[in-house]
Amino acid sequence: MPGLAAMNGKQVAVMGLGKSGASAARALLAGGARVVVWDDNAEARRQAAGQGLHVADLADAAFDFAALDLLLWSPGIPHTHPRPHPVASRARALGVPLVCDVELLARACPEARYVGITGTNGKSTTTTLIAHVLKSAGLTVAVGGNLGIPALDLPALGAEGVYVLELSSYQLELLDRARFDVALLLNVTPDHLARHGGIEGYFAAKASLFDRLKRPDGALVGADDAYGRRLLARLPAATPFSVEDALPAGIHAETGLLVDERLGETVADLTTLPTLPGRHNWQNACAAYGAARALGVAPTAIRDAFASYPGLAHRQELVAESDGVRYVNDSKATNADAAEKAMRCYRHIYWIAGGQAKEGGIDSLAPLFPSVVRAFLIGEAATAFARTLEGKAAYEQCGTLEVAVARARARALAYGHPDAVVLLSPACASWDQFKSFEHRGEVFRARVNALLGGAA
Ligand code: ADP
Repeated sequence: MPGLAAMNGKQVAVMGLGKSGASAARALLAGGARVVVWDDNAEARRQAAGQGLHVADLADAAFDFAALDLLLWSPGIPHTHPRPHPVASRARALGVPLVCDVELLARACPEARYVGITGTNGKSTTTTLIAHVLKSAGLTVAVGGNLGIPALDLPALGAEGVYVLELSSYQLELLDRARFDVALLLNVTPDHLARHGGIEGYFAAKASLFDRLKRPDGALVGADDAYGRRLLARLPAATPFSVEDALPAGIHAETGLLVDERLGETVADLTTLPTLPGRHNWQNACAAYGAARALGVAPTAIRDAFASYPGLAHRQELVAESDGVRYVNDSKATNADAAEKAMRCYRHIYWIAGGQAKEGGIDSLAPLFPSVVRAFLIGEAATAFARTLEGKAAYEQCGTLEVAVARARARALAYGHPDAVVLLSPACASWDQFKSFEHRGEVFRARVNALLGGAA
């Protein structure tokens, strides 16, 4: 745990006791701060009290904000939009800094180098890919932030270390003195708009990462959407990357070959990487390449590390291959956009879809239906999805994921396409039948393994 000795004796309030808030409260206490915590959830408060934390309602008019040195805010709690949070407003009015755990990490470990990764899609993949490349090159790396381990549960690193941090727009709004050696924006598409008061607010939060660079040439910006290009226009020292255009300067991979125009070299063939399929992953690879180069890793070392990247669970994760059929777990695809990315990668798809529907359903996926040999529908959305598929792709109602996997396997074996893929890419939230998308992916994996084990 990074030491927060600088907070010794300081008065700090912690708002929200989720993963990052609870971890920050522990670190602050260990650093000698006088900590007050609050969470609207009674069970979270009970647990905190059990750990010896002082619980007090920060919304209580009697709470003394003037005595606070810092308000540690959990990024999950809206503080400005759709309406100002009264606790945040009171703190701001009295000049109390509102920060998240990443800010405290930056203060606790100022010698280390920092890579900040943001964007609408691909953050986790890119973050873990960068960490993998840097580790493979022998650097000391800690990876976390919005993904996996909260910032203040990471190990303390000195000048030899690199923090690779996935940063949500919410976290970016809660930084103060944090500075980054490399700042990376992958892409911007409309998301979480209610919380940022519209796309401009969302973009501004993401762009603010680039005001925190130690050196202007540490900026890496995806040039494939209008927002990225807007940011590039105001960052002349930034390196752009693209999977759409052969940029005259910067990094590009529109054909699947990663080219670094700064070196005038083709560095890697991305089309052969099993754990990074699809153009969207080429974008992630371009970004990771740029970040690793900025930290001094040689192009050949980056290329070799790409080949050994293990991939992330539930994102086009190859669970098994048997009798010429691949079983791919893309449970993270909780909307049609994400499912599209996976579906583009395969030609003969036995598609398991459905769950709790998102707005628009799967209408936007119609151009990909010719790749769907048969769909296996589950969950609440099954009836609506059947209507969309009617006359365009064969389908059957399966009810549950267990049934869908068994039937998809049987069909794939019966039809005998040479490159058949049983693909769980549900284009839906999981809540109707599962605890989370991870749970859904694990059920898929277990079912596939059981079926294949049984067949062996
Ligand atoms: P995030 O952490 O931003 O949610 P992930 O790396 O977990 O992103 O990927 C989530 C899903 O988003 C993937 O399953 C894939 O469908 C899609 N995706 C991944 N990378 C990109 C990208 N660069 N552009 C668009 N979509 C992507």
